[in-house]
Amino acid sequence: MTRKILGALLATAAVCACTTTEPASPRATPAQSTQTAAKLPEIVDGYLRLTLEAGTHEAEWVDAYYGPAETKASADANPRSIAALLTDAKAMIASLDQSNFAPTDMRRAKALRGMLIAAETRLQMLQGRKFSFANEAKGQFATVPELKPLSDYDSVLARLEALIPGIGPLEARVDAFNERFTIPKDRLQIVFDAAIAECKRRTAAYIKLPEGENFTMEFVTGKPWSGYNYYKGNYKSLIQINTDLPIRISRAVDLGCHEGYPGHHVLNLLVESKLARGQDWKEYEVNPLYSPTSVLSEGSANYGIDLAFPGPERLKFERDVLYPLAGLDPKTAEAYWNMQQMTEALSGARLTIAKMYLDGEVTRSQALELTQKYLLLSPARAEQSVGFTDHYRSYVINYGWGKDLVRNYIERGKPDAKTRWTRMEKILSEPTLPSDLLP
Ligand SMILES: [Zn+2]
Repeated sequence: MTRKILGALLATAAVCACTTTEPASPRATPAQSTQTAAKLPEIVDGYLRLTLEAGTHEAEWVDAYYGPAETKASADANPRSIAALLTDAKAMIASLDQSNFAPTDMRRAKALRGMLIAAETRLQMLQGRKFSFANEAKGQFATVPELKPLSDYDSVLARLEALIPGIGPLEARVDAFNERFTIPKDRLQIVFDAAIAECKRRTAAYIKLPEGENFTMEFVTGKPWSGYNYYKGNYKSLIQINTDLPIRISRAVDLGCHEGYPGHHVLNLLVESKLARGQDWKEYEVNPLYSPTSVLSEGSANYGIDLAFPGPERLKFERDVLYPLAGLDPKTAEAYWNMQQMTEALSGARLTIAKMYLDGEVTRSQALELTQKYLLLSPARAEQSVGFTDHYRSYVINYGWGKDLVRNYIERGKPDAKTRWTRMEKILSEPTLPSDLLP
């Protein structure tokens, strides 16, 4: 994104039946139409203008923009009202639906339509409209996650209970265990530098990175997220890491891949290089946070961890390189690794809890309790997780559900490493909607 968030990775009201515009589609026409060939750039200009003006109503709307400064200055100087923007979004969706596009433009037109539906949904939310969790997700992100009931995770908890004996609640025992793997504050920089360098080395072996790409990293406090990539354009990012809570050793590779390589930094530089510059598709000069691109962005950033460090390669790197840098005992690395493997099976519970909370099925304090129990978190970490949901709402689906969509696409047919990376680069370099990742 452009900026992008990493929520609690481990894990990481009123119900309304209203829906947004149903997913019709721009129509394909087998022959080139000069009339409609001229139309797409016009709608693109309108979309770009609408997005920048919407950013004046909600600061985080525009996750990144690297087009001409005068275009943004002009939008900032004279933004329309939310109601006027909503009318415009609907008109552009209707215009897309009534247009015929050459097959070569179809994927671009469909992606643009998804962005406009997201804008329509978000503008209605800014007007105070309440959507159900599923409809909010569908409107903003063009996908609805498949959620399991919490009871499905009880057997995992029971298994962990048996494996981790001790006094007190399971979540407290697991948290106390995990806390032993905290990186001392004065070692954070050196550990993160080493992790990021390795994430980059592994990514650059498969994806050609443009000359001059790089990012700066800062440690910050007082944020609702645990990491953020602010993409600045010209292949540069600012990455911030939140140190409100102690940072455990696994987070170095997590965040190095997620925010950097092959995660957000790489996605953004590929979009800038291949779509905004290479194709001159101006809609890619801006990235709205609440849009279907976030499914791909967060999903690929999370999947990128497994892609860059398949299987035991991660354990080996962390044990042999990062543990010594952090002053942790490498002999304990495998035990921590095993704990993470075991608790990974619980990560889907995060979305179920978010859905229950946002749909008003449980109170906030119940959501906190459920988060502690099912994600095995301390009260402070559960607070960070639920606080993230308070702020970003259905955006939470983009992590776990987005990762599932990306993984299922890339690993279809059990391809070799080279093919997995080729597929990764392809979806990061093309207009990609969640539906494009389905079989
Ligand atoms: Zn992210």
